[in-house]
Amino acid sequence: MSDKKIVLITGATRGIGLAIAKEMAKNNYIVLGTGTSKSSATLLENVFEKHNIDGKAYILDIKSQESVNKLFDSINVDYSNTPDILINNAGVTNDSLFIRMDENQWLDTIETNINSLYRVSKTFVKPMIKKRNGRIICISSVVASTGNAGQTNYVTTKSGMIGFCKSLAREVATRGITVNCVSPGFIETDMTNKLNDVQKEQISKNIPMNNMGNPDDIAYAVSFLASDKASYITGETINVNGGLFMQ
Ligand code: NAP
Repeated sequence: MSDKKIVLITGATRGIGLAIAKEMAKNNYIVLGTGTSKSSATLLENVFEKHNIDGKAYILDIKSQESVNKLFDSINVDYSNTPDILINNAGVTNDSLFIRMDENQWLDTIETNINSLYRVSKTFVKPMIKKRNGRIICISSVVASTGNAGQTNYVTTKSGMIGFCKSLAREVATRGITVNCVSPGFIETDMTNKLNDVQKEQISKNIPMNNMGNPDDIAYAVSFLASDKASYITGETINVNGGLFMQ
């Protein structure tokens, strides 16, 4: 068995998840990343090969416990081990003014962004408790602190995530496990590419640093929290947002 630590990143095919995968590979972890389909997992596998990343891509739907169990079993078969670090990164937006939001938009966002925390974290924290060592890092959002019109569903999930991390952090602290959040501001990815140029300009105007962030900005904060240097930090949220929101 390799003595390299294993990191599992949900939703590693693009954007922030992919940047985290590349950064963690640079820091000498075995990187396991997931996509929702065979085609997105294959694309990720190709990126791993191209960049010589020691790791593997898997298919995962965080909305399904069966899919999470299958991932757990596959990792066990492939590595005879379980992840030392879990990054709960996968997430979706489904925006609408609350008055026009249909039940599906509400439920799907809650299911993907919040109920998945129960499934994925519970599955992977158990072996961490046995090992008496581990890291769980969740990707929240600046809107958890500020609120955002048109995102009542999404903001509910991202602020819930912070409370989840604080509570779980208290439960597992004596087992050598830390649980933290990184809260990105507006970052250039497919998720924010849904915004039009006028919206992006408006957002940038409100950011003291005057521009949207890069996925690498988030990856650096995640890699710090994953490292031994952050072993006394738990239940905390690191805001990475160009000054858009200051705690
Ligand atoms: P993105 O570019 O839209 O990528 C989303 C990732 O999540 C993809 O890898 C996607 O896989 C995966 N995914 C979607 N639904 C899934 C499901 N049901 N099961 C498993 N994986 C699923 O997103 P991003 O902008 O990088 O955002 C990553 C995280 O940061 C999210 O939690 C988001 O809420 C948070 N965040 C982003 C921003 C921002 O400005 N971009 C700001 C604050 C917080 P496929 O490729 O297979 O679809």
